[in-house]
This record gives sequence, structure tokens and C-alpha cells, in this order.
Amino acid sequence: MSCDFLSLALPGVQELSPYVPGKPVEELAREFGLEPADIIKLASNENPLGPAPMALKAIQEALPELTRYPDGNGFALKQALSRRFGFDLPMITLGNGSNDILELLARAFLAPGTEVVFSQHAFAVYPIVTQAVGATAIEVPAREWGHDLEAMAAAITPATRLVFIANPNNPTGTWIERAEFEAFMAAVPERVLVVLDEAYTEYVNVADALNGFDFIGRYPNLIVSRTFSKAYGLAALRVGYAISDPQIADVLNRVRQPFNVNSLALAAAVASLEDTTYLAESRRANREGMAQLEQGFRELGLAWIASRGNFIAVDLGREAAPVYQGLLREGVIVRPIAGYGMPNHLRVSIGLPQENKRFLEALARVLQGE
Ligand SMILES: *Cc1c(COP(=O)(O)O)cnc(C)c1O
Repeated sequence: MSCDFLSLALPGVQELSPYVPGKPVEELAREFGLEPADIIKLASNENPLGPAPMALKAIQEALPELTRYPDGNGFALKQALSRRFGFDLPMITLGNGSNDILELLARAFLAPGTEVVFSQHAFAVYPIVTQAVGATAIEVPAREWGHDLEAMAAAITPATRLVFIANPNNPTGTWIERAEFEAFMAAVPERVLVVLDEAYTEYVNVADALNGFDFIGRYPNLIVSRTFSKAYGLAALRVGYAISDPQIADVLNRVRQPFNVNSLALAAAVASLEDTTYLAESRRANREGMAQLEQGFRELGLAWIASRGNFIAVDLGREAAPVYQGLLREGVIVRPIAGYGMPNHLRVSIGLPQENKRFLEALARVLQGE
């Protein structure tokens, strides 16, 4: 019997389950003997439109430089973000996806004995980055599937270093109102860092919605993270960023790997930011696809959680796992979220009209066949 290596890991790591991603198309094709072209994947909140044409062109142009290390400071992307959103370069931190930003925060500010507050049913990466560095995760019960910010503020103790808030939240699609957020920030001591994860913010099409960028100057302990993985369509390239007080950005920069964002990602992100036609089309397709799925659920007599993201959690009113399996046999991949404490829901990413239609038809067949 060899050494029990698990017992050598940090206690928090021993208790973690690995992140379970959406099933890859190729994997389902292998398992069920299906043609990859006949499979649709609505499981990872990816942009169904494919990458922005301007991003593809920028990647082509950047290819001959692959022999070189990327710009470790990401100057061109920071400059493009600065032009777009008006923040000075020292306030910007670039990440290998915004998950990297979440991990940098954990590595820089957490240690055993410190606490992190986040909501029940919130993004799975929060407990992972917290427990990976030996800190204690404090999960606050949700209210109607969304964040209960009052309860989260009440959960803060002298040991709290970070609070993670996802707005809109994944996998529920729930959101936070502006006034609610302001009341929360007023209740949080300035020594507690508040991370507002806005991975889906580009999809929010409500006039007075909470926008973390509006509060950056006002709350020095606020960090807003965003990504190019969703509305900007670059999930595979891994690029995200944070806006914060320059001193917080400086701290993150100290623990960051020198070349954490690769050169193709940098070039594509700059181009995507400029491709406003693509972003507008992504938003429009999402709005229409969301309406299509809601209408389909209505016709099937299913409830769902209202969502401001590019996905929707549908309530099957009983265990969702067999329905998930039935959909796989139909060549449709969605996301079971029992691991998020939601065993009766499936999370479905908004696809192209044809994909949404095929999913709804497959769902009707699976539900009928049971
Ligand atoms: C998808 C997602 C992210 C972004 O992940 P990347 O690492 O940028 O691809 C961050 N937060 C939430 C809540 C997400 O759902």
C-alpha cells in the first residue's frame, strides 16, 4: 500500500470535489456512437455565435509571433479597456480567464484561519479557490435562489477577508438590485474585500441594473471582475480582467504568473472589444433565445428561475438526472446542477434558434417517454 497522499493535502482540499465542467461534444460522441455534428451543447454558457470576426482576424495576424513570450503586462489590452471604460491602467488586472482573477485574490489575501463569505447556489469556483489555500468557506443560505445580501453582511466576522458576489449569478441567473448592493457595501467594513463577479453583465438589458464599474471610486474595497468568455465569445482562449483600487491591483500583480494571458488571447480580446456589432448581435440573440426557451417551458408546463444571464435554470419538479441522461441520448448536452444543491433543475445555455428548438423538442420527448 503506497502512501495516502490525500491525507497530505490541506484539510480544505481534502474536502473539495473537483469542478465538473459541461460534457464535451467529443466525449458524448464517443460514448453514444453519435456524430459530433449531430450533437448540440447548451451546457457551458458559451456564446453560440462563434468568435467575433474581428477577433479571428486578429488571431491570424498574431500567429507568426507565437515563438515569443506574450506582453506580460498586457499593455495593449489594458489600454483598450481603459479607453472603453475610463479606468487608469494601474487599476486593471488581467487574468487567464476571470477564474484566474478569483484565484489570485485567494492566493494574495487568504490563509488558514481567514474566512470567505459567498451564497448558497453561487458559482462553484468560489469554494474551490477558498479551500485550496486553506481558508474557511462560509456559505450563506440563498433567498429565492438568489444572494441574501443582508444575511451575507451579517455573516462577516473579524476573520472575514473576502466576499464573493456573482451578479448575475451562475447557475441561477438571479441578480442583485442596485439599492440592495449599496446597502450591503455600507454595512461591510472597508478591510473586507468585496468581489463582484460580473461574468454575464454584458447580457443584462435593464436600464437601471447594478453596474459595478459605477462604484469603483466610491468603495475602495470593491473589485469587479469581468470576462471575455461569455458575451465576447472567447471561452477557449482564457482571458478576463478585474478593475480595482490600484493598490489591490498591485498586490494581485505580485502573485500573478508573469505571462498568465497568452498573446492570442490578448490580441483577440482587444479586437473583440472593438467589435461592437458582434456584441450587439450576441445580446440580441440571447434575448430572443431566452424568450424562445421560456415560451417552450411554458408550453411544457415547467417552471424556471427568471435569468439575466445567457442561461436559464428550468425546474423539472423532480430529480433532473434521468432527464439529463435522456437528453444525452437525444444528442443534447445541458448541465445538471445537483452539485450546486439544485437536484431538480437543469441549467440550459441559450443557443441559436435551431438549437433551442431541438432542445425543447428533445425535452418534450424525454418527459413524455418517462
Ligand atoms: C463563466 C463564469 C466566469 C468566467 O470564467 P472565465 O474564467 O472567465 O472563463 C466567472 N464567473 C462566473 C459566475 C461564471 O459563470
